[in-house]
Amino acid sequence: MQIKFFEEKKFVDRLVLDPLGDGISSLELIRVSGSDLDIVNAARVSFGKMADEISPKDESLIKYLLEHDHTSPFEHNQFSFRVKAPIYVVRQWMRHRMASYNEISYRYVQAPLEFYVPSNWRWQDKDNKQSSFGAYKDSDVLDGYKKTLNFAAKIYLELIEKGVCREQARGVLPVCTYTEFIYSCNLHSLMHFLKLRLHPHAQYEIRVFAEGLLKLVLPHFPIALREWEKLNNINLRN
Ligand SMILES: Cc1cc2nc3c(=O)[nH]c(=O)nc-3n(C[C@H](O)[C@H](O)[C@H](O)COP(=O)(O)OP(=O)(O)OC[C@H]3O[C@@H](n4cnc5c(N)ncnc54)[C@H](O)[C@@H]3O)c2cc1C
Repeated sequence: MQIKFFEEKKFVDRLVLDPLGDGISSLELIRVSGSDLDIVNAARVSFGKMADEISPKDESLIKYLLEHDHTSPFEHNQFSFRVKAPIYVVRQWMRHRMASYNEISYRYVQAPLEFYVPSNWRWQDKDNKQSSFGAYKDSDVLDGYKKTLNFAAKIYLELIEKGVCREQARGVLPVCTYTEFIYSCNLHSLMHFLKLRLHPHAQYEIRVFAEGLLKLVLPHFPIALREWEKLNNINLRN
C-alpha cells in the first residue's frame, strides 16, 4: 500500500489531519489510554504476573497473541477521535458497532453548508460493483456537481428563512455534506476497523481516514501495531 501525504495542521500541541485534503475534513486523536505494556500485563494476569516495563520477550508475546486471535488483551485501552467527514463516509464508519459515537445534530444547529467536492473523478469498475479506479478531471462533471450543491444550499437556506424547522430543512442536503462526530473504541476494535477500511475494496474516501487513524495511534502502541501491520501485510510508510 502506498502512503498518502496528509495536509497536517499543527495547533499548539495538537495534530489535526486533513485526510481528504480539502481544508474541511479533519481527524484528531483527542484522548488515549493504555500502552503495549498493558497488553502484555492483561495477557500475563492469567499467571498472576505484572511487569513495569516492556521486554523483548513481551514483543514475542504480542506477536503470538495477534497470530492466534487472542484478542481480549487488546481491549484494556481507549482512543477518542474527533472526526469531520462527509455523511456518506460516516454512514460506512458507523456500521462498526464495537465503538461509541456522538454526532453533531442538524436538528439543534444549522448545517454549516460544507460539502465534499472530490479533486478527481474515478471510473466505475465494471467487474467489481464496489470498486472504482483511475483519477480524471472533467469540468462538466464538476460543474454539474457544484451546481447541485449550490442549489441544495440555496433551498436549505430559503426553507430556514421561511421558518421551516432545521430537522425538516436538512432533508434537501446531499450526502456529501460534512458532519462531525466523536469516535471512541479500543485497540481490538480499531484494528478490526483498519483491517476492513484499509483494504483496497474499501472506498477511497474512508480509506484515507483509516490511514490517518493508523498514523495517529501508531506512536501509542508501536509494538502491537507494527506486529499487526506485518501480520496483515500493511505498510503505509513504504
Ligand atoms: C468493503 C466493504 C463493503 C461493505 N458493503 C456493505 C454493503 O453493501 N451493505 C451493508 O449493509 N454493509 C456493508 N458493509 C458493512 C459491513 O457489512 C459491516 O457492517 C462493517 O464492515 C462493520 O464490520 P463488523 O460488523 O465486523 O464490525 P463491528 O460492528 O465493529 O463488529 C465487530 C465484530 O463484533 C461481532 N459482532 C458485532 N455485532 C454482532 C452481532 N449483531 N452479531 C454477531 N456478532 C457481532 C462480529 O464478530 C464483528 O466482526 C461493507 C463493509 C466493507 C468493509
